[in-house]
Amino acid sequence: MRIPLLVRGRGIHASSADRLLRFRKVLKSAQRTTFYRHSLSHAGLDTSQSLRELQSVEETLPRLPVCEPGSLPPQRRTCRVSASNLHNPLPGRPAITFATHVNGERPEILAGSFSALILLAGTIQVERALIVITGVREGVLTSDNRDLLWSGFGVPVFEEHLGLDGQLIAHECEAHEGLHLVEQNAIWEEHAQGDLLLTSLTDLEHPTLRLRTGFSGQIHTGECECGSTQPRILDLRLRDPSLRR
Ligand SMILES: [Zn+2]
Repeated sequence: MRIPLLVRGRGIHASSADRLLRFRKVLKSAQRTTFYRHSLSHAGLDTSQSLRELQSVEETLPRLPVCEPGSLPPQRRTCRVSASNLHNPLPGRPAITFATHVNGERPEILAGSFSALILLAGTIQVERALIVITGVREGVLTSDNRDLLWSGFGVPVFEEHLGLDGQLIAHECEAHEGLHLVEQNAIWEEHAQGDLLLTSLTDLEHPTLRLRTGFSGQIHTGECECGSTQPRILDLRLRDPSLRR
């Protein structure tokens, strides 16, 4: 299915109607779980009719409680991530090779988790860039991590943040000023003291509603130096190490 997108400036924005449609599907999926049943009922979101009546994502979310990660039911253990899950950060869309699939060649863009990439530092040459895959499970990229990757490869580093289902939810651009939100895939909320909450708009198998990520950051809506007006998370960092598992 083709997803309608609203284009502003150089950024691609999901339309609010599309986001609402996706949000309804996630809520419908959550209605079928025992985990969310009580909170959806408390919020008056436990019937098909209540979902049809929703006016906006932003008005509805505050009706739901914040979800602590420790209370989540068991999730899938791993997600297969392919190049199609990632944002190609360079013009001309050079090929992306995963660190787990390097075979003696010289990759244009090398992608992988920080731990997978750093193992290859000094052993292979990369032509153009690194994509570091981070996420709710994997954590974020620290400035020390960046320094190590720069020393090891000498090419620009782009952080790409994935949701629990492996879908891209935020990515860095060539301006390297925060991570642009992928609005059609997730809703990020800045909660108390910069605590970031995440609601997936793609994960129907394991619905994620207002999950406390353990990260902090500021959601910024001003235009980026890259020309995009897609909102960005600035200063994304680990706030609560106890939430990492
Ligand atoms: Zn940008």
